[in-house]
Amino acid sequence: MNDGLDFLCVGAHADDVELGMGGTVAKLSRLGRRGAILDVSDASMGTRGTPAERLSEAREAARILGVERHNLGFRDGFLDSRDTGLRDRFAEFMREHRPRVVFTHPGHDRHPDHEQVCQLVRSAGFLAGLAKYPLEGRPFRPSRIFHWMGARDADPDFCVDVSQDWEVRRKAIEAYVSQFGQEGPATPISGASFRELLESRGRFLGSRIRVRHAEGFVCDELPEVADPCALASAEF
Ligand SMILES: [Zn+2]
Repeated sequence: MNDGLDFLCVGAHADDVELGMGGTVAKLSRLGRRGAILDVSDASMGTRGTPAERLSEAREAARILGVERHNLGFRDGFLDSRDTGLRDRFAEFMREHRPRVVFTHPGHDRHPDHEQVCQLVRSAGFLAGLAKYPLEGRPFRPSRIFHWMGARDADPDFCVDVSQDWEVRRKAIEAYVSQFGQEGPATPISGASFRELLESRGRFLGSRIRVRHAEGFVCDELPEVADPCALASAEF
């Protein structure tokens, strides 16, 4: 019997998960999956908002999405997947929470912290499964690691239909008032054009699978298809 989480989403900064796969998180919650979000950094380097504000916004977003939320509190802007303190802390978290599926940043992305977190998930996620790695807890390794799509567009390996969950995703993103509200200096993500970009991206990915809104993912290993006929949900 699985005694851990069904899924864990690991992001560098509060709001990364919502922007990358908020609709999928909302959908999995709606389907009764037990999930959590883990933010690795303390979000101290953002142009807007204090770490305390961003922590409380992140809690509200998680409530909207229906998942637990944790924060490792490492220094924003300086995440390093080779830092043994960070690696051990993350590996212990994996042993404690035992998520069957892990979602995280893609391997190539604009913010260096994003790439470091991707590397952390791959390396510390592997180490957590080694019996001789001297950490608290029983050895554990997730079955799958999936990456949401980042700033450097890639072709997705699969798309999730989130049409029904797009509104919840939008509300979770809007919970980050300090980032996406109208107060404070303009940033690349604070204006209407960024919201339009999110909408058109969701619609474009939706068009790839003939639904209204979708989120795309890339995989380290190809996902197996148990029943190809079960994929035939729409007509040509
Ligand atoms: Zn980020």
